Amino acid sequence: MKKIVFSVLSLLLVLSFMLPQISQAATAGSNIPLYLNENLLTPEVSPILVGNTTMVPIRIISENLGAKVTWTQEESKVTIQKGLNQIILWINKNESLVNAKKYPLEEAPQLIAGNTLVPVRLIAENLGLDVKWDNTTHSVHMVKTADGSTPGTVQPPPIVPVDPNPNHYPELSSIVLSGNQLQVQASGPISSKVFYVAGPDRLVMDIPASTFSSTVPKPLPNTNVEIPVANHPLISKIRYAYNDPATSTIRIVIDLKRKAGFTQVDNGTTGKLSINIAETKYKVVIDAGHGDQDPGAKSVTGKKEKDFNLAMSLKVQALLQQNPSIEVVMTRTTDTFIPLAGRVDIAQKAGADIFVSIHANAWMASSRGTETYYNRQESIPLADAIHRYLAPATGFPDSGVRYGNFHVIRETTMPAVLLEVGYLTNVIEDAALSNEDFRNRVADSIVNGIKDYLKVK
Ligand SMILES: [Zn+2]
Repeated sequence: MKKIVFSVLSLLLVLSFMLPQISQAATAGSNIPLYLNENLLTPEVSPILVGNTTMVPIRIISENLGAKVTWTQEESKVTIQKGLNQIILWINKNESLVNAKKYPLEEAPQLIAGNTLVPVRLIAENLGLDVKWDNTTHSVHMVKTADGSTPGTVQPPPIVPVDPNPNHYPELSSIVLSGNQLQVQASGPISSKVFYVAGPDRLVMDIPASTFSSTVPKPLPNTNVEIPVANHPLISKIRYAYNDPATSTIRIVIDLKRKAGFTQVDNGTTGKLSINIAETKYKVVIDAGHGDQDPGAKSVTGKKEKDFNLAMSLKVQALLQQNPSIEVVMTRTTDTFIPLAGRVDIAQKAGADIFVSIHANAWMASSRGTETYYNRQESIPLADAIHRYLAPATGFPDSGVRYGNFHVIRETTMPAVLLEVGYLTNVIEDAALSNEDFRNRVADSIVNGIKDYLKVK
């Protein structure tokens, strides 16, 4: 009896030591209410501010969106699975995996009172949420934007009349890749919506109001079935899952080795649906900064930044045009003035895959270095790829890949970077920036970075 009393006491003691810590952490940010679709969520731990980053509890948000969250204790790992999409995070690690692709995080996920808090931007970009900070009420508002299960898509989910009896849905009896043709066979008429998604390249086929026959392996909820593809020049694998239970939509994803388009061969009215898949060109926008009445920076020797930017951009254009997998779109090829919004417009209307803006810098006479700027998280891999070639090519101090709030890289929706090749206000760098060999070498490096990123030869 004495022994039991002792252990109960010691347990109470342990608890009383733990409680203040837990409640302190839990209340640290309790003045930040969290809303999802204007419903107030009641997480165990409220959002907190770390530096300038709002950190939100991942589990309650994910689960409210129908995603599955699993916690792996040994690795301090959180896995969020929704349909074909997977996000993996680690406590105290500034890196995440989104569909097996690495993305840096501005703040590492934190474990507070058993709850994982992650940067709100990660949630927004990968679970299809629009996130707003209400400055008057000091609250976080998240609104589900679209389907949210496929980062990078803008297409709304197909709208089809839903048969109230799922037993009436046509059954898919086979999904086969034959050469460059994907063939889907169903027991009755089916319709489809096919679209291309970048990062990583893939074609997505949604087939609403359909189900699987017993001849096809059925995916479990939140998992997908993979069809291996061996040694295909364009396609690495095919996978499928139930994407939207409400409309019984089956989603087939064709993972590509490079960008591809499709043409429909059979439209599904007879139960047969097929598309031919073919390589398409990547659209690269090269944006020569400034122009005409906007000269940009002025060099120590009186040269204008707009002229350097244009000369460099034309060299990059000439090199890219030699590549059969790339189509170049220029925002300007002469000394003309194009407003920032106009440059964004050109890229958006072209449906560009990437956007590269070329500039030269100006600051103090002693300022030196090559800088590559990104604004949106999805642009970091492009910034990394180009900077890896650009910095050694200039030979200037490597000032690294940086976040920058520039209009053209912020307002575009494809991966976009802004290069500050060097400083016109520094005597050494100004001399190099006007040197023809230097310019050729730098143009080469930018093109190599672009090709590396796009994985084209
Ligand atoms: Zn500039």
